[in-house]
Amino acid sequence: MEEKLFDYPWLLERVYKKIPPRPEGEGIAIPEPELIRVGDQTIIKNFREIAQKLRREPAVLTRYLLRELNAGGGYDEGSGQLRVSIKVSRKPIEQLLQRFEKTYVRCPTCGTVDTKLVKKERSWLLICEACGAEQAVKPI
Ligand SMILES: [Zn+2]
Repeated sequence: MEEKLFDYPWLLERVYKKIPPRPEGEGIAIPEPELIRVGDQTIIKNFREIAQKLRREPAVLTRYLLRELNAGGGYDEGSGQLRVSIKVSRKPIEQLLQRFEKTYVRCPTCGTVDTKLVKKERSWLLICEACGAEQAVKPI
């Protein structure tokens, strides 16, 4: 009996078996931002596609990015491009997009990206359509 209690490999195996495998295809492959430098400005060419992949309105993603970059600029509906008023390289943009996904797209409870962002009076909620969890997020 004593020996069984300290049978760690056996215990570990039991623990791991209880963890359900992650469902496939739940992650978002965020497209690599295609940047064009125009003077002191930066254009994100495939911005609309990125917003679509992240399942959010381009206007919301625009506000988030410009605020985090502390820059001016704007989204052009016609071309689907985002103009940023500063020089910025791909790395910081990729990091911000990943952070956006983590905060405003991915359900913190079950990990799915099957969620929506809802404004409720002054607060914003990330509502999961899979498990129903509601998470208050910082308004953008
Ligand atoms: Zn969920």
